[in-house]
Amino acid sequence: MSSAKKFVLLGATGSIGESTLQVLRKHPEKLELIGVSAHKQSEKLHSIIEEFKVPNAHLICQGDQRVPFPKKTNLGQSTDQLDELAAHPEAELVVVAIVGSAGLRPTLAALKAGKDVVLANKESLVVGGKLVTDTARESGARIIPADSEHNAIHQCLLGQEERELDSIILTASGGAFRDLPLEKLKDVTLKQALKHPNWSMGPKVTIDSATMANKGLELIEAYWLFGLPSNKMEVVIHPSSIVHAMVRFIDGCCLAQLSPPSMTFALQNALLFPERHAGVEKSLDFSQSFDLSFSPPCHDRYPCLRLARECLSQGGPYPLAFNAANEVAVDAFRMNRIGFVQISNIIEESLNKLNTNEPTCLADLLELDTVIRSTASQSIALLGH
Ligand code: NAD
Ligand code: MG
Repeated sequence: MSSAKKFVLLGATGSIGESTLQVLRKHPEKLELIGVSAHKQSEKLHSIIEEFKVPNAHLICQGDQRVPFPKKTNLGQSTDQLDELAAHPEAELVVVAIVGSAGLRPTLAALKAGKDVVLANKESLVVGGKLVTDTARESGARIIPADSEHNAIHQCLLGQEERELDSIILTASGGAFRDLPLEKLKDVTLKQALKHPNWSMGPKVTIDSATMANKGLELIEAYWLFGLPSNKMEVVIHPSSIVHAMVRFIDGCCLAQLSPPSMTFALQNALLFPERHAGVEKSLDFSQSFDLSFSPPCHDRYPCLRLARECLSQGGPYPLAFNAANEVAVDAFRMNRIGFVQISNIIEESLNKLNTNEPTCLADLLELDTVIRSTASQSIALLGH
């Protein structure tokens, strides 16, 4: 009998999906892919199914945009069927590599069914952190962080006493416009925003890196994963993206995790946890000199980071609202409907209009998500584009 860990990969056709497949190619004896999902990219999903002989799949796609799938593939298309795939009886592990709040439902479905979740989709914790962590606690399923900073913290905390932890430090590259004169930010193009200095990632997270909304989302993600308040979580600019995060203990000592800026390191660590095996890519080469500098982020350059921190401190519906408005604003920027600096304006306006209590169940979370999206869309429409 095969001892490979059976797993489902949601969002298989994206950047995290591809890095996960690289880990699978490297360790076919350790991992077996039994389910995959995608949104629209039917050809890419088809080729993944063929390469790894995946029996179960889910695709959100218009019928006429879909390539024909092998007859033996068990293919779902409805929202319920995505939840069913996330809770597949044979799966031990579910990788959630979907982008945006669309990852929330399947993450909950997997955790509810007791599946360990390798979580790349930070938005699900931002939108439904309490519900997600409560669901995991109730079923006994683990959330294994795959976001590189959170995976780094997870590694640094292994074998340590929780009560001896003082604070955590998330590093950030500073994104595409780290060194651009501030007054030029208003003129940057989508093409420039999509050129990340170190990482190769999907478009949304690349733009989120340029605004540092990404680090804001990661602070909220870290709050739910590690339980630290905002004032115990620092953000530092680290241009080379080699140190992914650090933890500081009460005696003042800090531990860091270092690896080259590629997601295969964090993903392999999470997928094979608690085992370590040969990596997909080469480790750091200390025979070459490289830069490990750190500096505090400039608040004027990254208003999204300030807004996210405020939302984390306010709690209640604010983190969800931050995420929903950001998703809408980033989409609008990608469609050339707003400029780069308007992303944070749209988020701020949407937050100022927020007037509701904390949603608790999934239906209420999804309803509020819809309300904020329409508020943000109205603000964009009023800009006259
Ligand atoms: P991506 O855009 O490259 O891929 C997204 C995947 O989700 C694709 O497979 C797509 O088909 C699917 N998808 C998109 N919309 C969907 C929907 N509405 N319903 C179901 N599936 C949908 O994104 P990515 O860069 O791989 O990022 C995925 C997640 O991982 C994000 O939450 C991101 O913040 C996080 N993350 C990414 C990186 C990275 O290096 N790319 C690093 C850390 C964390
Ligand atoms: Mg990250």
